[in-house]
Amino acid sequence: MKKYVYAFEDGKKEMKSLLGGKGANLAEMSKIGLPVPPGFTITTEACIHYIEIGEKLEDSLKESIFKHLEDLEDEIGKDFGDVNDPLLVSVRSGAVISMPGMMDTILNLGLNDKSVEGLAKKTSNPRFAYDSYRRLIQMFGNVVLGIPGYEFDNYLERKKEKKDYDNDTDLTVDDLKDIIQDFKALIKNRKDIEFPQKPEEQLIMAVKAVFSSWNNARAISYRNHNDIPHDLGTAVNVQTMVFGNIGDNSGTGVAFTRNPATGENKVFGEFLLNAQGEDVVAGIRTPKDISELNNLMPEVYEEFMEVTETLEQHYKDMQDIEFTIQEGDLYLLQTRTGKRTADAAVNIAVDMEEEGLIDKETAVMRIDPEDISQLLHPNFKEDELEKADLLATGLAASPGAATGKIYFNSEDAAEAAADGEDVILVRKETSPEDIEGMVKSNGILTSRGGMTSHAAVVARGMGKCCVAGAGDIQVDESTRQFFVDDRVFNEGDYISLNGSTGEVYAGVVETTEAHLTDNFKKLMIWSDEYRDMGVYTNADTPKDAQVAIDFGAEGIGLCRTEHMFFDSERIMSVREMIVADSKKKRKKALEKLFPYQKEDFKGIFKVMQDKNVTVRLLDPPLHEFLPQNERDIKNLAEELTISVEELRRIISDLEEMNPMLGHRGCRLGISYPEIYKMQVRAIISAAIEVKEEEGYEVKADIMIPLVGTDRELEIIREKAEEVAEGLLEDTDTDIYYTIGTMIEIPRAALLADRIAKYADFFSFGTNDLTQMTYGFSRDDAGKFIGQYLEQEIFAKDPFQVLDQDGVGKLIENTVKLGREEKPELKIGICGEHGGEPSSIEFCHKNNLNYVSCSPYRVPIARLAAAQSAIKNN
Ligand code: PEP
Ligand code: MG
Repeated sequence: MKKYVYAFEDGKKEMKSLLGGKGANLAEMSKIGLPVPPGFTITTEACIHYIEIGEKLEDSLKESIFKHLEDLEDEIGKDFGDVNDPLLVSVRSGAVISMPGMMDTILNLGLNDKSVEGLAKKTSNPRFAYDSYRRLIQMFGNVVLGIPGYEFDNYLERKKEKKDYDNDTDLTVDDLKDIIQDFKALIKNRKDIEFPQKPEEQLIMAVKAVFSSWNNARAISYRNHNDIPHDLGTAVNVQTMVFGNIGDNSGTGVAFTRNPATGENKVFGEFLLNAQGEDVVAGIRTPKDISELNNLMPEVYEEFMEVTETLEQHYKDMQDIEFTIQEGDLYLLQTRTGKRTADAAVNIAVDMEEEGLIDKETAVMRIDPEDISQLLHPNFKEDELEKADLLATGLAASPGAATGKIYFNSEDAAEAAADGEDVILVRKETSPEDIEGMVKSNGILTSRGGMTSHAAVVARGMGKCCVAGAGDIQVDESTRQFFVDDRVFNEGDYISLNGSTGEVYAGVVETTEAHLTDNFKKLMIWSDEYRDMGVYTNADTPKDAQVAIDFGAEGIGLCRTEHMFFDSERIMSVREMIVADSKKKRKKALEKLFPYQKEDFKGIFKVMQDKNVTVRLLDPPLHEFLPQNERDIKNLAEELTISVEELRRIISDLEEMNPMLGHRGCRLGISYPEIYKMQVRAIISAAIEVKEEEGYEVKADIMIPLVGTDRELEIIREKAEEVAEGLLEDTDTDIYYTIGTMIEIPRAALLADRIAKYADFFSFGTNDLTQMTYGFSRDDAGKFIGQYLEQEIFAKDPFQVLDQDGVGKLIENTVKLGREEKPELKIGICGEHGGEPSSIEFCHKNNLNYVSCSPYRVPIARLAAAQSAIKNN
């Protein structure tokens, strides 16, 4: 028969998958000589087998359990079930990955009506004995028999009220005897069975209950949510009891070897005297700070400090420890890697490297890249959040925290901000028209749209807090109100947004500032030592570019040019260009735009100096630049000196059923070559001037969007080269420039070798590529993606986390064909996935040269790329 039971001394920490986390660590602590009460572990394999054969414990397994119990009896010198001096045990579950929702703990197992009297006599402490028995019946009733815990708790509360007691410790022996009778009656009443008096029966029932709990509804749902496989099973640990509730020289506590909130290298913990098990975390009595143990029991304190040191040295990470003191003797009941805040994670990793405990590689691997974003943005104060008035939850579109007065359009928001108000822009969804208001607001809230909606993408780029697609909020832009159930919010009312969780609160919630510590910077520098893939940024303005450089960006991978056109000084010329009915008029309007564009690019080149700047030529459908409402249409007609009817006709001509699949991207460049020509002229002229004026080796990469056929790229490339070469002919200044394309249409990915003939580089636009691979619009998918996630059709939102199976296939194919045609082809990614850790690892495995992401995700990308290099190289 397979070995299903291991004494602690036969295990070790490497046996986690067999013994569970708790069991493996109890074994390890025994092995290195720490004071662990002896016991044994029934393996996860036994659990799986138990489930497979229809929730039965085979006789051979029972025998093995009792054999180990006998060994325990010999070691301790007490007998299980002895009426005078019984051996008592705890039974605890212990999965490989710790899992709330499963059965947890039963203490004092082995007591019954007789042995409780023996225990009372033996310890000369009847209160302790009867309290222990009371706890056993309560835990057994709840954990093994499934009676809700509150039924016992409520009863205890009523009892204390009746007796006018404040604490559980005020209960007398007689009270406890009454309670024991009543608890037994409760069990009989609810489950129609007697509380088992045979210790062996208690043990077998407890083991079965723990095994069965692996498949209870809560545990299954927890595993589904956390991507934990369902076939791991849980182990069961049976351990000799030690008692923290014998008197005031006993106690129990939990401690972290370092501060889990700040990372400070100082033991952080709490304990209670005369208490057992869950009392510390249950909050029944207020625990004392661990430092007080030094006054009460200096020797125990000193020993405990040595233990924390030993455990850290051994595990080489911060530990979360449970301990019990029984009549002045210290025992350890658990150790595990401690959970910590992002701030603490960074500080602990760097400190431990400097203490020589871990190496740099380990330090870099210790940090979850996603956690870093907490450090780069303001957050709400924890205590403020607890009392905040939660209105709705949308998508956590762009992290950070923001508070302000609500405004419902870009103009009003910008105006209020200019008057010094804190502003939140609230829209159904945003469009490029809203940029000004978005820039001036502290945060952005939309009721529609997904993770790659305009609001989400632009807010992330700005590092601005955004909650998108909060469907419970009804926005009425015309009356400048929004509604949540029967509550109404008017212009000027305060709300608060948590862009890291998607939560929307009524009123003001106070925030704390972001802070980049020296340790954080160190960790970033270490990451760069391992990283072999470039990290670029998506930035449209010199300001964003500077932020990204400060975060370590090595180039711009996507400079979207459409936002530049919305500036109030130039939007008129853009509109003039769009409504022009002849090429000549269009060129005239473009001439007016040229100096602005050139200055835009000069500003960015100056910030980026010698680094690559990838400028994407105009992408959105022209319709987006024209006004929508009657008043604005009338004003524009006046300014353009055309009739309102004429303007309406032009607008309606430009309207499309599916603008995202319509006349946009390079299709505009084919229809109106003069637009792209003007942009190329602006890029190259700006490069020449910045090189001449500042001496920087400007690097301009011109990027053509939405290419689907090689012929599109061939035509546009030829025209762009003509313009560039023409300008360079007239100057002695030599300029590095390249012309490449985005890969965002499946056809381009399938025929990448043909496209590569005309491209100096590829950049995956995975927002469009995801949209077109799935065939659903990125602006509308928000309406049903939630359901797809719920029904597990999707494991993750494909607009956030790259769909490696589908879209990933296209990427693999593109890289293969592209480099077959051009071995040196530079390939990157600039869709939102370029800042998402698992997608970054996929890019690294597929030999991309760089990822490009919004400025505030640059540190996340640096770390994720380093981790991928460490893992995969
Ligand atoms: C993309 O499609 O992935 C992309 C970066 O371009 P945009 O989001 O501007 O369409
Ligand atoms: Mg795109």
